[in-house]
Amino acid sequence: MSVIGARIVYFTPFAVSVPLKMKIVTVLGARPQFIKAATVSRALAHAGIAETIIHTGQHFDANMSDVFFREMDIPKPHYHLEISGLSHGAMTGRMLEKVEDLLRSEKPDTVLVYGDTNSTLAGALAAAKLRIPLAHVEAGLRSFNLNMPEEINRILTDRMSSILFCPTATAVKNLEREGFREFGSSIHLTGDVMYDALKYYQTKAIASSTILKQHDLKAGAFVLATIHRAENTDDPRHLASIVAALNTINQETAVVVPLHPRTKQHLKNAGIKTSFTLLDPVGYFDMLSLLKHCTMVLTDSGGLQKEAYLSGKFCLTLRNETEWVELVKAGANVLVGTNEKKITGTFRKNKKKVVRVKPIYGNGHAAEKIVKRLARG
Ligand code: UDP
Repeated sequence: MSVIGARIVYFTPFAVSVPLKMKIVTVLGARPQFIKAATVSRALAHAGIAETIIHTGQHFDANMSDVFFREMDIPKPHYHLEISGLSHGAMTGRMLEKVEDLLRSEKPDTVLVYGDTNSTLAGALAAAKLRIPLAHVEAGLRSFNLNMPEEINRILTDRMSSILFCPTATAVKNLEREGFREFGSSIHLTGDVMYDALKYYQTKAIASSTILKQHDLKAGAFVLATIHRAENTDDPRHLASIVAALNTINQETAVVVPLHPRTKQHLKNAGIKTSFTLLDPVGYFDMLSLLKHCTMVLTDSGGLQKEAYLSGKFCLTLRNETEWVELVKAGANVLVGTNEKKITGTFRKNKKKVVRVKPIYGNGHAAEKIVKRLARG
């Protein structure tokens, strides 16, 4: 321990200097945020920074929430707000009210939020209104499609943040183009915390997962697909077209879909029939195993596009745009939208495609960079 000016600092394994009693409040609530937070929470603990976690409850099922805290050793949330299943406005509003109350009593030095969900926006707004410094992990991503609720959440959260942690050079450029260099916010290119997570857990996950055995899946003989984006699930024509494509592909290569609860509900409501293998949502370890052993990924998920690449798998993105444009540039990802013929045609054309992984998402130490910056206050 040493004293620098009026600040007492500790030296830690990451050579992070931490003001005495520094406190972070993390606001999260959805599946991808648990995965993103896992490595940052560990790095915060290593650095001796106190973290209080507020779980909004946006995702609450055991297989959409608890499994990630358990497998990834994420510290138990100190608060669980149990807010879910409402309209966007109602959900965000209730979260805002509750998070604001907690921030008043917790009095953190910084509020930390991840990604682009309603939990992200509520945490960001609560911090900004109380004038507590806000840090955003996964800042600067843009789809340039304001019809996506996620795009609204991202733009507003970035604008309210004082510290912006960007996963890619493209994300930094997006912020610069929007004038963020003039706003006094500090922008950092850190690499992607999802790469940190994949690198950290992959070996253990693949060794311990029994998902292939459980569902009689053959390594190297199935395609992995996920669908959950509102623009696909909430429009029965889009959903029917994607399902028709997956039904056709399934006749050539087995298709495995861990199904998001929202998609399950919409399939039922629209009476859409599937002929491929449907699983309940799987934990992160099972997901890493499926990624390792599949031949290709078809998805509208943001996180899964990167994980496909990092696992050396070609990806068809079931959207018309992506925030992860470097994957398309690298020739590892094709935007196929929801057109049945385009999906099946592009699948057939790329069946044998080999993906060479390059370090476009950093070096697996994004979390440490983030914590180092947070420790400066
Ligand atoms: N994921 C998982 N189990 C599943 C589906 C996804 O563990 O059944 C993981 C996936 O590997 C990735 C993250 O959840 O790390 C992506 O979350 P999601 O697709 O829900 O959100 P997005 O990334 O699109 O925001």
